Amino acid sequence: MPWYRKLHWQIIIGLVLGLIYGVIAAANGWVEFTDNWITPFGTVFINLLKLIAIPLIIASLITGVASLSDLKKLSRIGGKTIGLYLCTTLVALIIGLVVVNVLKPGNAVPPEMRQELEQTYQGDMESRIGIADEARDRVALQPLIDIVPDNLFSSISDNRNMLQVVFFSIFVGIGLILMPREKAQPLITFFDSANDLVIRLVEIIMFMAPIGVFGLLAGTISSIAGDDPSQIVELIGALGYYCLAVIIGLFLHAAITYPTLLKTLTPVKLSTFMKGMSAAQLVAFSTSSSGATLPVTMESVEKNIGVSEEVSSFVLPLGATINMDGTGLYQAIAAVFIAQALGMDLSLTAQVVIVLTAMLASIGTAAVPSAGIVMLVIILEAINVPSEGIALILGVDRILDMLRTVVNVTGDATVATVVAASEGQLDIPELAAVPQTA
Ligand code: ASP
Repeated sequence: MPWYRKLHWQIIIGLVLGLIYGVIAAANGWVEFTDNWITPFGTVFINLLKLIAIPLIIASLITGVASLSDLKKLSRIGGKTIGLYLCTTLVALIIGLVVVNVLKPGNAVPPEMRQELEQTYQGDMESRIGIADEARDRVALQPLIDIVPDNLFSSISDNRNMLQVVFFSIFVGIGLILMPREKAQPLITFFDSANDLVIRLVEIIMFMAPIGVFGLLAGTISSIAGDDPSQIVELIGALGYYCLAVIIGLFLHAAITYPTLLKTLTPVKLSTFMKGMSAAQLVAFSTSSSGATLPVTMESVEKNIGVSEEVSSFVLPLGATINMDGTGLYQAIAAVFIAQALGMDLSLTAQVVIVLTAMLASIGTAAVPSAGIVMLVIILEAINVPSEGIALILGVDRILDMLRTVVNVTGDATVATVVAASEGQLDIPELAAVPQTA
């Protein structure tokens, strides 16, 4: 059995045990014990992944871009990548809007429950609206300004600024392409070996994935439930229909859009793709962060699906930061759900505005836990729905965040596979294993 399959089972066991432990801990009031002795294993795991995410982006993107040898190839691969990212996000948003308009989960929230939820999450909501306000009170082209840092070290020092690091690395890669090869080579060799180093580090970190995932799940469940698990049951009762709508939307996108792309545009078997991506999907689920999962996504896509390093090192870091299909789909459903729950009817124009703002919001959403809900405030304001409405859905956001992050990561991997296939840079491991006859 290849290492990643074994690891996949070990991670699943860690995940299930973490879930069971979390529920038992909440039922027995072991929150403090869990915080002190169990959650730290999860924190160490996620910290290790985050620790190497920025070095990985720098090393892999610079090597990736520089290895493209000319700007024409860069703009061709870049164009395909961005085009596919935009298309898949658009499809995700449309699926989200159709699901929420058909199921109408907002109409199922009783008014007294609405008031209760709003009161419970008042504090949380205010802080998130504050963050979104800062994001909104800026000039129209602010997102463009935000991508271009004025100081490299301040970008590197905050994982939320990954998009700036992506920009810097592509910029340096372009510079290297334009330099005479013999002058550029020492730097390319340096970043190439830094890239290999990071890949080895990922392999070491993944050894602790089962324990890390156990700690993360146990910690998440016990922090959501606190010492009163009946709270979770109550919340799921009120928001169950909304969660179901998001889950159906995410499922449809993952089960229709990606397989269609893979089947029509690549020779990769769906089973190979799913098996190859499972470790990354499990890590995405447990960490709720596409940024933290990036090292595992890259390793899985290259080793298990056969995407060349040249393609994966360009497409995936970019995707982790700008391509968030799961987040966009969730934002569309959440925005309409809140409007429905507040008894507001959304016109077709408002729904088109949701699509446009959610496209931008999912690009601007940082690849970290809960970033999607902050950007949701901006969408709500664009369609004149009170942003206080996010209080309604905050209670279940962590669970949905785990699921949408899985879709975000799967979307990046799908696009990487399609781009690699179109460039003749796909070396499917199973095919490679078949001996060539002369
Ligand atoms: N947690 C998501 C990610 O990292 C972003 C979000 O939707 O909050 O992909």
